[in-house]
Amino acid sequence: RAQQLGRNRIEWYDSDLEEQLVRRMDLERELPGAAMRGEFDLVYQPVLGLHDKRPVGTEALVRWRSPSLGTVLPAELVPVAEDLGLIDELGQWVLHKACRQLAEWSRGGRQLWMSVNVSVTELTGSEFVGRVAAALTIHQVEPDRLLIEIAEPSGEVDIMGVVGQLGRLRALGVRTALDDFGLGPASLAHLRRMPVDILKINRSLVSDPSGWQGQGKPVIDVVVSLGRRLGMEIVAEGLESADQVEQARLAGCRFGQGFVLARPATAERVEAYLEEFPSPSR
Ligand code: C2E
Ligand code: MG
Ligand code: MG
Ligand code: MG
Repeated sequence: RAQQLGRNRIEWYDSDLEEQLVRRMDLERELPGAAMRGEFDLVYQPVLGLHDKRPVGTEALVRWRSPSLGTVLPAELVPVAEDLGLIDELGQWVLHKACRQLAEWSRGGRQLWMSVNVSVTELTGSEFVGRVAAALTIHQVEPDRLLIEIAEPSGEVDIMGVVGQLGRLRALGVRTALDDFGLGPASLAHLRRMPVDILKINRSLVSDPSGWQGQGKPVIDVVVSLGRRLGMEIVAEGLESADQVEQARLAGCRFGQGFVLARPATAERVEAYLEEFPSPSR
């Protein structure tokens, strides 16, 4: 019986691996040309001030609507795009689409910022800063309305390269954010050197139940106070309950984002959501 179980388990692993490989091949076959076929899409997740629960910005999150593969999420899409050398093409599409949307909302009288996620590969490309400058000009976006988010660089990354590029972005007037802070191994060591305006505390720190109440609470307090002492604003990401929202606010996070506040949605749905928050009358 044990032998049979063991054999089944091996078969299960095999078919699982096979499925992954087939999926990967499907993605690699379909991705080139996806941009030309107009299959990329952006959804936007509102970011709220935790003191008044009003939207201050949105984060653009890419979706690949593939007719044959369904909706592909960035966790799957981005690594494949990187491996195929298509990350710059994807990133350019995202940047322009997000800036165009930002310009439209700004013209409508909305004082929002727009976050765009970039991978370290994109950021450290020699043409990246010039492309951001061009997008700002083309779409007539105020630089400080654009926020470039980079995932926390891990070990092998060229930290000084990242630091240099972030500095150049800031010189354009663009704001910068360190995303998913708290996941990487070298967080605290690098934080001091990072020219970033905003620190986004990852869901794993925020939503771990032991995180706020138990032993994790001091960790969050340290991260928040360190970030603030370095002149950064703090965004708590991945807030999924009213309790977490309140804890994040009490811990000193100025902004928050998460399913309990607002889910990522299409531009039209975000507009409808924003309608619920009339601009303060003059
Ligand atoms: P991120 O920048 O940290 O974005 C937040 C992710 O968490 C999003 O997933 C969002 O849908 C999800 N999320 C938001 N609130 C909650 C919550 O309350 N609970 C939970 N469980 N999840 C929540 P998504 O859209 O799948 O994006 C995943 C990651 O992919 C992003 O993490 C970002 O690092 C990357 N990404 C997204 N769009 C792009 C892009 O255009 N370019 C690049 N290079 N990376 C992107
Ligand atoms: Mg992000
Ligand atoms: Mg994040
Ligand atoms: Mg994340």
